[in-house]
Order: sequence, then C-alpha cells, then structure tokens
Amino acid sequence: MNLMWETMALGAAAGGVWYSSRFAWWRPSVAVRHPRILMYHMIQSHRTGSPSNGLRVPPPMFEAQLHWLRSEGWNFQFTSELADHWPTAGEKTVAITFDDGYRDNLTNALPLLEKYDARATLYLVADRTSDRDWSSQKKAHHNSGELRNEPKLTDAEVDTLLASGRFELGGHTVTHLNMTRADRPTKERELRESRNQLENRFQTKIKTFAYPFGLYGSEDPDLVRQAGYSSAVTTHSGIHTESNPDRFQLRRIKVSGRESMSEFRLRIRTGWRAWNK
Ligand SMILES: [Zn+2]
Repeated sequence: MNLMWETMALGAAAGGVWYSSRFAWWRPSVAVRHPRILMYHMIQSHRTGSPSNGLRVPPPMFEAQLHWLRSEGWNFQFTSELADHWPTAGEKTVAITFDDGYRDNLTNALPLLEKYDARATLYLVADRTSDRDWSSQKKAHHNSGELRNEPKLTDAEVDTLLASGRFELGGHTVTHLNMTRADRPTKERELRESRNQLENRFQTKIKTFAYPFGLYGSEDPDLVRQAGYSSAVTTHSGIHTESNPDRFQLRRIKVSGRESMSEFRLRIRTGWRAWNK
C-alpha cells in the first residue's frame, strides 16, 4: 500500500517537473496595468520543413489570439500612442506589431484585425524592391533565401493598409540595416531617409522605429531619437514592469507560429515563452 502511494507521488512530482520546464507556469503573472507589445512577422500557413515557420502564425491561430484578447477585454493601441502615453495607458493595453512588410499582412492579417476591431503597427522596410534577406533569425538558415522570396507589400498595398485605419507605419531602416555593423553616418542616413521616404510616399507621420534583426549598439537608441522618432521597439522579450520604461528600448513578446494557445496565454500573462521552443 505504501509503495503504491510513493509510486504515485513520484509520478506526480516527475510530471510536475516536466510541466514546469515545458510551460514555465510558475513565473509570476505581470499585472495587467503593464502594457504588452506583441511581435509578429507573417500571418500564413506553415511550409513543410521550413526553418522559418516560427515567423509564420497561421491565420486560424492569429484569429484565436485576437478572439481571446478581445474576449478578455484587452484594448488595442498603436505603438506610437502607447509609447506617448505609457504611464496612463489603461489596464489591459496591447500593441500588435508586424516587422518588415510581408504581403500577408494585407491579405491575411487585415481582415482579422477588422473582424476583431483591432489595430497594429507595421515596421516597414522602405526599400522592398531589392532581394535582401530580412530574416530575423541569425542562425544557419539565415541565408536560405526563403524570406527573400516571400512576397512583400507593394506601395499600393501599403496605401490600402493605411486607408483601413487599422495600421500605422513605423520605421525599419531603408535596407534592413544591421546597425551593429554600420558606421555612424550610415546609421544616421538610414534612420533619416527611411523616415522621410515613408512619410513622403504614404503621407503619414512616422513616429516609432524597430531595430532590424533586433540588433543595436549602445549609441543607437540616441541616434533613433535624434532622427526624429519618439519610440523604438527591440526583440528583447518581456513586459516592462517599470512605470516609465526607456521608450527607445521597448521589449516585445514574440509570438511564435510554433506555439499553442495555452502558450500564447502564458506569454501574455508572464511575458515568458515556454522553454525549448
Ligand atoms: Zn525586420
């Protein structure tokens, strides 16, 4: 009899250890008065065997996420609004962001943003005509060329996004510049020119910026500010718990196309992702 109970207790403990490492449920929830910024790239089905599927959130998954956020009472704001009014943002404020400018942001994301009365900030590479690889992954598959061949938004399509009122544009440099490998004049030029180009072409204000690849050096937040932006988002993961975070190094929650809904909810709650993903 004792042996049976011990065996069961051991089994439960082992299960608990597995569950802890898998879902990090034990991390404390971050109070809902602290805004969340979510990072997406593409809204599309996975490609068999693609190493970039983490950047592809399938449309049914994106819809489930929007549906859940709405039903839980989260309010959607553009990043620039949020950054300008961070300390007074209401409870349950979330900013959805897309990086780069993939065409599915129009074909797949926009209809769902409309359906759930949501909004998003698009950090748009100014020059989308060249065939540079914008992969945010810095590993071996960086050079696979897969994302280089991914359809990008045309200017006319960006017009459609803006006309919907569901999107604001942010800067992401002209060429998707790796700021840790560029000299200061190049960085200053890319920051300034991308902002000017987007403002002139799309007749809109560009107030917020995203560091390409999430890479930046210690002087770069200041260069972004000097170039006329009022905020910048990084790829550092998490939720700010300070009431007045550095507006030029804002953390985001990465939404992976490989995560389940329970993992998504966990990330909204704690800012952390499941392990081993
Ligand atoms: Zn990017």
